[in-house]
Amino acid sequence: MKDNTATKHSEANTQSVNPNVGWHFDHSYERLPDYFYARLTPVPVQAPQVVVLNHALAASLGLNLRVLSEQETAALFSGNVLPDPAHPIAQAYAGHQFGHFTMLGDGRAILLGEHLTPTGKRFDIQFKGSGQTPFSRRGDGRAALAPMLREYIVSEAMHALNIPTTRSLAVVKTGEWVMREKPLPGAILTRVAASHIRVGTFQYAAGQGNDTAIKILADYVIQRHYSDLKDAENPYLSLLNHVIERQASLVAQWMLVGFIHGVMNTDNMSISGETIDYGPCAFIDSYDPTTVFSSIDQHGRYRYSNQPLMAQWNLARFAETLLPLLDSSQDKAVALAEEAIHAFPQHYQNQWISGMRRKLGLLNEEAGDAELIATLLNWMTQQKTDYTNLFRALSADGPAEEIAPHNAEFLTWHAKWKSRLLRQPGSMDNVHHIMQQSNPAIIPRNHRVEEALSAASDHGDLSPMKRLLAAVADPFADLPEFNDLRTPPAPSERIYQTFCGT
Ligand code: AMP
Ligand code: MG
Repeated sequence: MKDNTATKHSEANTQSVNPNVGWHFDHSYERLPDYFYARLTPVPVQAPQVVVLNHALAASLGLNLRVLSEQETAALFSGNVLPDPAHPIAQAYAGHQFGHFTMLGDGRAILLGEHLTPTGKRFDIQFKGSGQTPFSRRGDGRAALAPMLREYIVSEAMHALNIPTTRSLAVVKTGEWVMREKPLPGAILTRVAASHIRVGTFQYAAGQGNDTAIKILADYVIQRHYSDLKDAENPYLSLLNHVIERQASLVAQWMLVGFIHGVMNTDNMSISGETIDYGPCAFIDSYDPTTVFSSIDQHGRYRYSNQPLMAQWNLARFAETLLPLLDSSQDKAVALAEEAIHAFPQHYQNQWISGMRRKLGLLNEEAGDAELIATLLNWMTQQKTDYTNLFRALSADGPAEEIAPHNAEFLTWHAKWKSRLLRQPGSMDNVHHIMQQSNPAIIPRNHRVEEALSAASDHGDLSPMKRLLAAVADPFADLPEFNDLRTPPAPSERIYQTFCGT
């Protein structure tokens, strides 16, 4: 389905990058059979210009970007000049998109390789928006500036909220226009990930028509992400169980901060357990479980409250790909896979309720906790209360009357919660400390994200974006200078739809 000979688009990206940056590349994915990827180089861009650089992330990777001039940095993060030795590839994968199976692959992304940090950690370094690949189908292989900045802002916010996620190292403008509904400034994002292996990569391997491909991929993933499982009695069943547990934990963490991914297709679910592929994602303001932001999610498949179910659905697709490895008897393999998948809701519920307990400062367990939580969430749904600010207000321990004035229902709930807190051992100071570490003051509110993207993309003004980035980098602090970013949108500011912008 693809021509796997290296294609050089231009001589431009054959020069080498300043060796003092500290790149240390390995290419373990490239050692897989060649049907897992296509070799190619990024298509050079006309006039690259740095928009944002993540120096903190660079430092944690053992990279020093300060040795590069502005121009060299732009050349590096546009793919015009490749670090040595980059072996750029586009990865093959498949996926269920809104329930429909399709062959996909990196249509606009290129993996440069895996950078090894000084402490021996391995991270994929990937360009997104770097030109056409054999998997581009009808796409132009490019990305617009606003969606790349959205990914940068939201992924860095998720990281600061302690939620597993891919990271963003740089965004450069290409100096070229991309044609969408209207011409938009083009950009390239440099993404850093534990890996880019997706449920869809397994679906692609399973589709190769022999059991070798799936075994090679599963062994690779165990080696790379789950090395403790190598000696398990049934390593592939253990792999399935661990991937299920990581996803249950991840989606519980999304739900606890009010995050909606928006496109939970199987190709957008990472086997490493990181949040990946930020498209029309957004955080809820007022609490409403039926919230959908994505313009393409017409039936609400990926609405807030449906995310755990959709994760389980995706994991069932993952389990299906592993069947030949689980047992030589097909019936036994199906029974093992079903048992593993049926355990998802319990894993999810355990993670979610323990997170909710931390949000409410409940440090031990009581039988009535689930009801206490449900009563609060029901009240919030009816009142359309701001989700983030309500929990943050509870953490500050103000009088109930100030949190929700003249509201008898809330007063009753608050009194019950207070007496529940008094029944547990330990100091109230500790309770409030834990609550303040569990309930962010700052999330990247959608109207603020859109405002920052529009300033950058339509007016070339980067200051709202830089300010928002500074605020979301420290989400559990009460910094008065960012108070305006904590205010929920006024009705006229509310954003009802977000767009992938692909
Ligand atoms: P996403 O919705 O971003 O997860 O992308 C789904 C699929 O569409 C992936 O295979 C992408 O590589 C591909 N894709 C998205 N945008 C483009 C584009 N502008 N050009 C080529 N392929 C694209
Ligand atoms: Mg994707």
